[in-house]
Amino acid sequence: MLQLENVSLNYGSFRALDNINIHAKEGELVVLLGANGAGKSSIFLTTSGLHKAASGSIRFGKTELVGMKPSAIVEHGVVQCPEGRKLFPAMSVLKNLTLGGYVHRRDSKGIKSTLDEVFAMFPILHEKREMNAGSLSGGQQQMVAIGRSLMSRPKALLLDEPSLGLAPLVVKQMFEAIEKINKAGTTVMLAEQNAYAALRIASRAYVIEGGRIVMEGSRDELLNNEAVRKAYIGA
Ligand code: ATP
Repeated sequence: MLQLENVSLNYGSFRALDNINIHAKEGELVVLLGANGAGKSSIFLTTSGLHKAASGSIRFGKTELVGMKPSAIVEHGVVQCPEGRKLFPAMSVLKNLTLGGYVHRRDSKGIKSTLDEVFAMFPILHEKREMNAGSLSGGQQQMVAIGRSLMSRPKALLLDEPSLGLAPLVVKQMFEAIEKINKAGTTVMLAEQNAYAALRIASRAYVIEGGRIVMEGSRDELLNNEAVRKAYIGA
């Protein structure tokens, strides 16, 4: 289980996260809904150790992650796939993917088999493995970003806005891939503005506004909630 307890984060004098309490049980797919600037990325950046929580605890199983180096957090199996993909555009697809396997660099056999799994999930990446990542379409670049995260063999994957800026058909493929990753046993926390598509594959969700959790519930509770429908789903 990945559990954030009373986590707060400040950027200077600005309180970006205020006593956040959220969790994902082993194997669960949990969605974080929220508008731009609500604090979704800040939750992930704090969990992955890139920002230091001002207070609170973040545990993965029995391990406390607060205070741990980002690389150690990845080694413990908690891996963030960042918003905006953050690829190395002038490097090949293969190189970008291989970099994701850095924590397992002494296990070349394991890296090769994980790479085969990534290519099985996204066959187009195998076709384009020698091309520069920056030359791929937006959807394919997102596949590289997710594939790179998978290369570190996450137990819990934090996916930050994977559908951002993608065409509807590609969004559909992306959510299918995320569902597959989850069904194969990886715990997923998914931050999304594409609320309907995200909720459909989730078991539970949280709504975050102004750095606070303002609502939580099962997929069906949130899908049927009037305020959520109005603010995040539309129809
Ligand atoms: P988005 O989808 O737009 O990234 P978000 O829900 O992920 O939104 P965050 O990026 O976590 O939101 O931002 C939460 C708040 O913290 C926003 O008001 C943002 O402007 C602010 N913020 C984020 N990063 C920093 C930073 N490095 N320094 C100062 N303020 C920041």
